[in-house]
Amino acid sequence: MVVLGNPKNTIQVLQKYNFNFQKKFGQNFLIDTRILEGIIEAAGVTDQDFVLEIGPGIGTMTQYLCEAAREVVAVEIDANLIPILQDTLSAYDNVEVIHEDILKVDINRLAQERNGGRPIKVVANLPYYITTPIIMGLFESHVPIDSITIMVQKEVADRMQVGPGTKDYGALSLAVQYYAKPEIVLNVPPSCFMPQPKVGSAVIRLTRHEKVPVDVNNEKLMFQIIRASFNQRRKTLANGLNNFPRISLGKEQIQECIEELGVPVTVRGEALTLEQFAALSNIIERKMQG
Ligand code: SAM
Repeated sequence: MVVLGNPKNTIQVLQKYNFNFQKKFGQNFLIDTRILEGIIEAAGVTDQDFVLEIGPGIGTMTQYLCEAAREVVAVEIDANLIPILQDTLSAYDNVEVIHEDILKVDINRLAQERNGGRPIKVVANLPYYITTPIIMGLFESHVPIDSITIMVQKEVADRMQVGPGTKDYGALSLAVQYYAKPEIVLNVPPSCFMPQPKVGSAVIRLTRHEKVPVDVNNEKLMFQIIRASFNQRRKTLANGLNNFPRISLGKEQIQECIEELGVPVTVRGEALTLEQFAALSNIIERKMQG
């Protein structure tokens, strides 16, 4: 078994299997041991943990995870990588590779069957094109999660962490912060990957809240309101909500709700905090019920 994590060994494996990188799968493999060690440390993986890895590639980070965790399941979409993973992970008996699209995997069932429904850790160097659906899918389907430690595009990591009044603030920031505490733990330059991506990357750890941080009666309505507010970023909150079919209130009633929240009716959605969106959603729901 080749120990991965440096460019020489990665090239050796790629050549042995005549592997061609597939752009459509966002394949940028890690070749820096310092970053790999940093991810494992940030994820806080122990020998008690069940870890789900999304997109193992040739198994570079998987090897580190197998060393640290009790059990690892790695889900990889690219059929050409499956025989490579069988080779690079042959020394470990605590790993299973599943050949599947992660968006089609029932992760709740996996957590139930493999970890008795206890919270799992998710670790991934994500294909950037599915970052948001993966994260939102994990949270919204109420998978028992302890933490998600992931490499994402730097700009997306920033978006998850910021609050109101910044240009990066949006629906993703609010959704992530509703479910978890985000912390950027590492900034990672393109030179740490093969091939090098065009953008900078960052590792962010999302630690699931034990209890959601705001009082909201109807989570679904709150997220619809958030989406409606940011869909039309340049409009006032009142106009954004007025154009949104799910809210069966007239413009005046919407303005009354915004006033009741204690902010000017001309406010834009991007100025509201998560607490304010929760409160607004409770006010709107009450008003819709008459
Ligand atoms: N973890 C490896 C590393 O750090 O070197 C590879 C990371 S690479 C950025 C992303 C990996 O995710 C690739 O192996 C790619 O084939 C895989 N992938 C892309 N889309 C996927 C999907 N929908 N489901 C599962 N794996 C996927």
